[in-house]
Amino acid sequence: MEWPVQLPVIKSLPLLDKAIINCKKCPRLVSWREEVAVVKRKSYIDEKYWGKAVPGFGDEKPQLLIVGLAPGAHGANRTGRIFTGDSSGDWLFGALHKIGIAKIATSTSIDDGQKLKATRIICVVRCVPPDNKPSNDERDMCAPFLQSDFQISLATTRAIVGLGSFAWDAIFKTLTILGHPVKKPKFAHGATFKYSHMGREYLLIASYHPSQQNTFTGKLTRPMLESVLKKGGRFASVVN
Ligand code: SF4
Repeated sequence: MEWPVQLPVIKSLPLLDKAIINCKKCPRLVSWREEVAVVKRKSYIDEKYWGKAVPGFGDEKPQLLIVGLAPGAHGANRTGRIFTGDSSGDWLFGALHKIGIAKIATSTSIDDGQKLKATRIICVVRCVPPDNKPSNDERDMCAPFLQSDFQISLATTRAIVGLGSFAWDAIFKTLTILGHPVKKPKFAHGATFKYSHMGREYLLIASYHPSQQNTFTGKLTRPMLESVLKKGGRFASVVN
């Protein structure tokens, strides 16, 4: 299925975030996100889960854009902020703090005081999928939100980091729809693609996703993640 192009694309991040939070277009994901929020994990039994779609987080004029897969069941689906409240978030924000982009080294709740320097984090699919596996139809249903996020951010964004092959594919599909002259290299940790469009230089970089599957097994180490993020941050003039 070709990715749908949403017309008109939502033109402001507050409106986009609101549309994402209110979205109920995927019956299976709506049902799953709400079920997880009711059943809960034992360790969070006294907490009120978010249980809705999760918008992006960070600077409204990002020079660096980071794209993940989808919210975590007991992370973002619990806290309401992307990459917040689980191990993947600890890894990502820990690395961003180490290189001078995140204000604090942890990401525990929506009101923890976290702040990102000229950087925004988004996901391809905005609702938690069972087994972290959205269907192609669900990915396509959510694609207009990704297109809107890109269209708004690309006024300032110069580097985009894709966390995992799912995000890597979605970045290239989205940029193609938006008229950027991109050609996807095979996904690998550290793979890059540089191009010019309308007089601006862009850098796309791939990283293994900081999921427990990768971090527990040592496939992704903290220096590996920091290195990719630093490369993107430097290209986008966010860090030195
Ligand atoms: S995955 Fe995206 S399109 Fe589907 S319900 Fe969630 S926000 Fe809406």
